[in-house]
Amino acid sequence: MESIYIVKVGGAIVEDEQRLGQLLRDFSALPGRKILVHGGGRSATSLAERLGLESRMVNGRRVTDEGMLRVATMVYGGLVNKRVVARLQAEGVNALGLTGADGNVIRGHRRPVTADGTDFGFVGDVEWVDARLLSTLLEAGMTPVMAPLTHDGRGQLLNTNADTIASEVAKALADCYDVTLLYCFEKSGVLRDPNDDSSLISVITPADFERFVADGTVSGGMIPKLKNALQAVATGVKQVIITRADAIDGHHGTVIKAEQ
Ligand code: ADP
Repeated sequence: MESIYIVKVGGAIVEDEQRLGQLLRDFSALPGRKILVHGGGRSATSLAERLGLESRMVNGRRVTDEGMLRVATMVYGGLVNKRVVARLQAEGVNALGLTGADGNVIRGHRRPVTADGTDFGFVGDVEWVDARLLSTLLEAGMTPVMAPLTHDGRGQLLNTNADTIASEVAKALADCYDVTLLYCFEKSGVLRDPNDDSSLISVITPADFERFVADGTVSGGMIPKLKNALQAVATGVKQVIITRADAIDGHHGTVIKAEQ
């Protein structure tokens, strides 16, 4: 099987011109087929604040009302996505920007109200990914750049966690490719002490994950990130690594394993 890299770049890197530039250069240098998935959380929040909209978080996820969805569409699907595409073009990568609605590549549905009555608003859970379309684009020499938005097929765009998009795309491509999924962000990986970059946890299994959630070692956005990472390795993705944005070529960081 051919191999492919799927690189998810976190919000703090997308926000930082210099680190984003470095990441995009390193991404461009990766050999062969590749897909970039970007977040962009903080820039949407700050624009929403400037527009006088409030943003609310529940369990590490943003509650998305109509106004927030518009801002997310403008920022993720517009500014962030198109700037990344233009910069990859400058690096010689034939990048193609996509939301889930473009080419009907990712279908989602609005997340149901939870048992405790939490309504996340216009937030999408992924139903399916069109692996055939992605593969057609890849084989035509293009590099999809995916924004964290899906659609429900009835005209509704949905704000969708970028880590989830990355793992769903990885899982969908795992039948046809040897997939390496890299979650890159501002820290060296999953840490024993989130403030100490040298306290890297080198391997995480499902049992470790349960323990780290229970004892508070991992929290916030790291919990859904690890859930997505574990699901990907359990579903045929060959390699999943959580790493620093400036280390994507070296494969350092936390390796996610399905078994002990
Ligand atoms: P992204 O930067 O990819 O958008 P999130 O902000 O959702 O991702 O999740 C990453 C964040 O998780 C880190 O910035 C950090 O604050 C937090 N975090 C919680 N526990 C840990 C941990 N044990 N190791 C590293 N980061 C952690």
